[in-house]
Amino acid sequence: MTHMDLDRWSRVKDRLRAEVGDDVYASWFARMELDGSEGDTVKLSVPTRFLKSWIQSHYAERVLACWQAEQPNFSRVELTVRSAVIRTLPSKIKVMETPAPQRENREIKLNGAQPRNGAGPISAVHEALGGSPLDPRLTFETFVVGRSNTLAHAAAKQVAQARRGDLVMFNPLYIHAGVGLGKTHLLQSLAWAGNAERKVLYLTAEKFMYGFVAALRAQTALAFKEALRTIDVLVIDDLQFLQGRSTQAEFCHTLNALIDAGRQVVIAADRPPSDLESLDERVRSRLAGGLVVEMGSLGEELRLEILKCRAAAARQHHPDFDVPAPVIEFIARTVTHNGRDLEGALNRLLAHSKLTGQPVTLEMAEREVRDLIRPQEPKRVKIEDIQRVVARQYNVSRSDLLSSRRTANVVRPRQVAMYLAKTLTLRSLPEIGRRFGGRDHTTVLHAVRKIENLVNTDSALAEEIELLKRQLQE
Ligand code: ADP
Ligand code: MG
Repeated sequence: MTHMDLDRWSRVKDRLRAEVGDDVYASWFARMELDGSEGDTVKLSVPTRFLKSWIQSHYAERVLACWQAEQPNFSRVELTVRSAVIRTLPSKIKVMETPAPQRENREIKLNGAQPRNGAGPISAVHEALGGSPLDPRLTFETFVVGRSNTLAHAAAKQVAQARRGDLVMFNPLYIHAGVGLGKTHLLQSLAWAGNAERKVLYLTAEKFMYGFVAALRAQTALAFKEALRTIDVLVIDDLQFLQGRSTQAEFCHTLNALIDAGRQVVIAADRPPSDLESLDERVRSRLAGGLVVEMGSLGEELRLEILKCRAAAARQHHPDFDVPAPVIEFIARTVTHNGRDLEGALNRLLAHSKLTGQPVTLEMAEREVRDLIRPQEPKRVKIEDIQRVVARQYNVSRSDLLSSRRTANVVRPRQVAMYLAKTLTLRSLPEIGRRFGGRDHTTVLHAVRKIENLVNTDSALAEEIELLKRQLQE
């Protein structure tokens, strides 16, 4: 049974509950389970004969109609009585984690728990503990270390290299950063680096929730919990998506049990623990009790390095794909801080060069990545800064600029400062007048016009003003 089937099933149940009301639903349908489907038949089961016959005689049509609303091709509901066989796990759940030569085969797997024909407790546990798939490209080797992620990287490395029985140094390790800044990359690197003796399990918070909910449905919650607790290193990504009371309570138990047993827990989220509003206060404080590390945005140097590595990697598969250094620099300089956009930018260049057979040029890059370019936030210039910089440049004091003195050596600097205030800020003429010692707006206008005219004829002044502008905007 797929995730989608279960989603659909839960929508069908919601529909049914809405139609028959909470009480009726709780009496007759609460223990109804989805066993699968075949062609036009959906297979459901209930634990007793009595329930089966009651539902069949009173609600058969309704159940079918609710299904058809979700899945129009169903025309029959087969309702069976579940056998009373006690559902247990296979005696040993083994997480395979030997450094196999082929990366692709190194997905963390559970041995001996073959999904048995769709549903069932084993497959639920298998799915839940099978971990989320790991991307073979996301390893420590391809992770570029820079100022913004040094600490997070060092901590992840440390965790990855620890051996069973080592003292756990920071638990949980909690890494937070905005979108596309390398959380998943770092966590998966850590999961890849797991060694034969330690079971590392990488799960997204969604997978954790789904696993738990599925296990609950399959009535194997206890087994699920036990299995989860055999893990040496539990890695949970995107914790901000953890929702629901029972899942949270379970997460809390698991966290406590693992940490108390000296197992390592590593977590990533898009915000610090204190900002995970939907989480229980106790969980938050437990999360904050380990090492909390933030990864900052990717600086230009780091972006450049990442792009170089990416381009080199792409070149191994596409020998003709040559991205000239100026193009890489252009992307590193202009594309947003987000690692995904960097990847996206390179992919577009690759696609373009593959499809057209043309070499990658700066012009082509500019065209291809236009929409990924970070809007240049013009630096907000303050009037005080203008006054300070201009005063320094002309060797007068700021109070001279604001004073009513009319000697030539302050008149010109004052006009320049007012002109810059008009061109570099959004302040109105009256506002600028007020900020220059309470002058009238016509005085400001006069100064602005004066300098505008002078700039056109006096190239030395024009240059001076350009220099001032640059200083202010840096
Ligand atoms: P997050 O999980 O924080 O949203 P990801 O880990 O998915 O971000 O990173 C987004 C993209 O940026 C991925 O392609 C990733 O490989 C790349 N990336 C981010 N940081 C780095 C880094 N330090 N070195 C190499 N690639 C990085
Ligand atoms: Mg991620």
